[in-house]
Amino acid sequence: MSETIFSKIIRGEIPCHRVYEDDSVLAFLDIGPLSTGHTLVIPKEPAVTLDALSDESAAALGRVLPRLCRAVLKSTGATAYNILQNNGSEAHQVVMHVHFHIIPRFEGRGLDIGWKPGELDHDEAERLAGQMRQLLDQDP
Ligand code: 5GP
Repeated sequence: MSETIFSKIIRGEIPCHRVYEDDSVLAFLDIGPLSTGHTLVIPKEPAVTLDALSDESAAALGRVLPRLCRAVLKSTGATAYNILQNNGSEAHQVVMHVHFHIIPRFEGRGLDIGWKPGELDHDEAERLAGQMRQLLDQDP
Protein backbone atom coordinates (compact mmCIF):
# COMPACT_ATOMS: atom_id res chain seq x y z
CA MET A 1 0.00 0.00 0.00
CA SER A 2 1.31 3.45 -0.85
CA GLU A 3 1.96 6.19 1.66
CA THR A 4 -1.02 8.43 2.50
CA ILE A 5 -1.56 11.58 4.49
CA PHE A 6 -3.05 9.39 7.24
CA SER A 7 0.22 7.38 7.56
CA LYS A 8 1.97 10.68 8.25
CA ILE A 9 -0.69 11.66 10.81
CA ILE A 10 -0.29 8.26 12.55
CA ARG A 11 3.48 8.81 12.75
CA GLY A 12 2.97 12.35 14.08
CA GLU A 13 4.70 13.92 11.04
CA ILE A 14 1.56 15.95 10.28
CA PRO A 15 -0.45 17.48 13.14
CA CYS A 16 -4.05 16.62 13.86
CA HIS A 17 -6.65 17.41 16.49
CA ARG A 18 -6.43 14.03 18.25
CA VAL A 19 -9.59 12.71 19.86
CA TYR A 20 -8.52 9.16 20.78
CA GLU A 21 -5.56 6.84 20.39
CA ASP A 22 -4.67 3.28 21.36
CA ASP A 23 -2.26 0.69 19.95
CA SER A 24 -4.47 -0.03 16.91
CA VAL A 25 -6.76 2.99 16.40
CA LEU A 26 -6.48 6.77 16.00
CA ALA A 27 -9.37 9.25 15.90
CA PHE A 28 -9.04 12.93 14.99
CA LEU A 29 -11.12 15.80 13.65
CA ASP A 30 -11.63 16.01 9.88
CA ILE A 31 -9.85 19.00 8.31
CA GLY A 32 -12.85 19.64 6.03
CA PRO A 33 -15.79 19.04 8.36
CA LEU A 34 -19.31 18.55 6.99
CA SER A 35 -20.49 19.65 10.44
CA THR A 36 -19.01 20.58 13.82
CA GLY A 37 -17.38 17.53 15.41
CA HIS A 38 -16.88 15.59 12.13
CA THR A 39 -14.41 12.94 13.27
CA LEU A 40 -12.29 10.38 11.42
CA VAL A 41 -11.54 7.01 12.98
CA ILE A 42 -8.71 5.03 11.40
CA PRO A 43 -6.87 1.78 12.04
CA LYS A 44 -3.10 2.11 12.36
CA GLU A 45 -2.85 -0.91 10.05
CA PRO A 46 -2.24 0.41 6.53
CA ALA A 47 -5.17 -1.16 4.63
CA VAL A 48 -6.78 0.68 1.71
CA THR A 49 -10.33 -0.65 2.01
CA LEU A 50 -12.35 -2.28 4.79
CA ASP A 51 -12.42 -5.71 3.11
CA ALA A 52 -8.60 -5.78 3.27
CA LEU A 53 -8.43 -5.11 7.01
CA SER A 54 -7.39 -7.78 9.52
CA ASP A 55 -9.93 -9.16 12.00
CA GLU A 56 -7.78 -7.73 14.81
CA SER A 57 -7.89 -4.15 13.51
CA ALA A 58 -11.59 -4.50 12.67
CA ALA A 59 -12.30 -5.66 16.21
CA ALA A 60 -10.27 -2.78 17.66
CA LEU A 61 -12.25 -0.28 15.57
CA GLY A 62 -15.59 -1.86 16.46
CA ARG A 63 -14.74 -1.80 20.14
CA VAL A 64 -14.17 1.98 20.28
CA LEU A 65 -16.61 3.29 17.64
CA PRO A 66 -19.69 3.46 19.91
CA ARG A 67 -17.66 5.21 22.63
CA LEU A 68 -16.34 7.73 20.10
CA CYS A 69 -19.86 8.34 18.81
CA ARG A 70 -21.02 9.09 22.38
CA ALA A 71 -18.16 11.58 22.84
CA VAL A 72 -18.96 13.29 19.51
CA LEU A 73 -22.65 13.56 20.43
CA LYS A 74 -22.05 14.85 23.95
CA SER A 75 -19.38 17.39 22.95
CA THR A 76 -21.40 18.84 20.07
CA GLY A 77 -24.92 18.54 21.46
CA ALA A 78 -25.98 16.66 18.33
CA THR A 79 -28.64 13.99 18.73
CA ALA A 80 -28.24 12.39 15.29
CA TYR A 81 -25.26 11.41 13.20
CA ASN A 82 -24.12 9.34 10.23
CA ILE A 83 -21.28 6.86 9.99
CA LEU A 84 -19.76 6.99 6.51
CA GLN A 85 -17.13 4.60 5.22
CA ASN A 86 -16.05 4.97 1.58
CA ASN A 87 -14.17 2.21 -0.25
CA GLY A 88 -12.66 2.90 -3.68
CA SER A 89 -12.52 6.13 -5.66
CA GLU A 90 -15.81 5.29 -7.45
CA ALA A 91 -17.34 5.27 -3.96
CA HIS A 92 -15.88 8.72 -3.15
CA GLN A 93 -12.83 7.47 -1.24
CA VAL A 94 -10.10 10.11 -1.55
CA VAL A 95 -7.60 9.05 1.12
CA MET A 96 -6.56 5.46 0.42
CA HIS A 97 -6.35 4.32 4.04
CA VAL A 98 -9.42 2.80 5.76
CA HIS A 99 -11.39 5.39 7.72
CA PHE A 100 -14.79 5.83 9.29
CA HIS A 101 -16.41 9.27 9.31
CA ILE A 102 -18.57 10.18 12.32
CA ILE A 103 -20.68 13.08 11.04
CA PRO A 104 -23.02 14.82 13.48
CA ARG A 105 -26.32 15.94 11.97
CA PHE A 106 -27.65 19.41 12.70
CA GLU A 107 -30.41 21.38 11.04
CA GLY A 108 -28.98 21.94 7.54
CA ARG A 109 -25.49 20.61 8.36
CA GLY A 110 -24.12 17.10 8.02
CA LEU A 111 -24.15 14.38 5.39
CA ASP A 112 -26.61 14.77 2.51
CA ILE A 113 -27.42 11.44 0.93
CA GLY A 114 -28.89 10.81 -2.53
CA TRP A 115 -30.82 7.59 -1.83
CA LYS A 116 -32.64 6.06 -4.79
CA PRO A 117 -34.06 2.66 -3.75
CA GLY A 118 -34.80 0.06 -6.39
CA GLU A 119 -37.12 -2.95 -6.11
CA LEU A 120 -35.76 -6.31 -4.92
CA ASP A 121 -36.00 -9.23 -7.35
CA HIS A 122 -36.57 -12.10 -4.90
CA ASP A 123 -35.25 -14.87 -7.19
CA GLU A 124 -32.06 -12.95 -7.86
CA ALA A 125 -31.84 -12.03 -4.15
CA GLU A 126 -32.02 -15.67 -3.05
CA ARG A 127 -29.34 -16.67 -5.58
CA LEU A 128 -27.07 -13.85 -4.44
CA ALA A 129 -27.62 -14.42 -0.70
CA GLY A 130 -26.86 -18.14 -1.22
CA GLN A 131 -23.65 -17.29 -3.05
CA MET A 132 -22.65 -14.94 -0.24
CA ARG A 133 -23.38 -17.60 2.41
CA GLN A 134 -21.17 -20.04 0.51
CA LEU A 135 -18.32 -17.51 0.22
CA LEU A 136 -18.59 -16.67 3.92
CA ASP A 137 -18.33 -20.37 4.81
CA GLN A 138 -15.05 -20.49 2.88
CA ASP A 139 -13.66 -17.24 4.39
CA PRO A 140 -12.18 -18.08 7.79
P1 5GP B 1 -12.84 10.16 1.97
O1 5GP B 1 -13.51 10.93 0.86
O2 5GP B 1 -11.58 9.49 1.52
O3 5GP B 1 -13.81 9.20 2.64
O4 5GP B 1 -12.50 11.23 3.09
C1 5GP B 1 -11.23 11.67 3.39
C2 5GP B 1 -11.37 12.72 4.46
O5 5GP B 1 -10.09 13.03 4.96
C3 5GP B 1 -11.99 14.04 3.98
O6 5GP B 1 -13.18 14.31 4.71
C4 5GP B 1 -10.90 15.07 4.24
O7 5GP B 1 -11.40 16.31 4.68
C5 5GP B 1 -10.05 14.39 5.28
N1 5GP B 1 -8.66 14.79 5.24
C6 5GP B 1 -7.84 14.79 4.16
N2 5GP B 1 -6.60 15.21 4.49
C7 5GP B 1 -6.64 15.46 5.83
C8 5GP B 1 -5.65 15.92 6.76
O8 5GP B 1 -4.50 16.19 6.41
N3 5GP B 1 -6.05 16.07 8.05
C9 5GP B 1 -7.30 15.78 8.45
N4 5GP B 1 -7.60 15.94 9.76
N5 5GP B 1 -8.25 15.34 7.62
C10 5GP B 1 -7.93 15.19 6.30
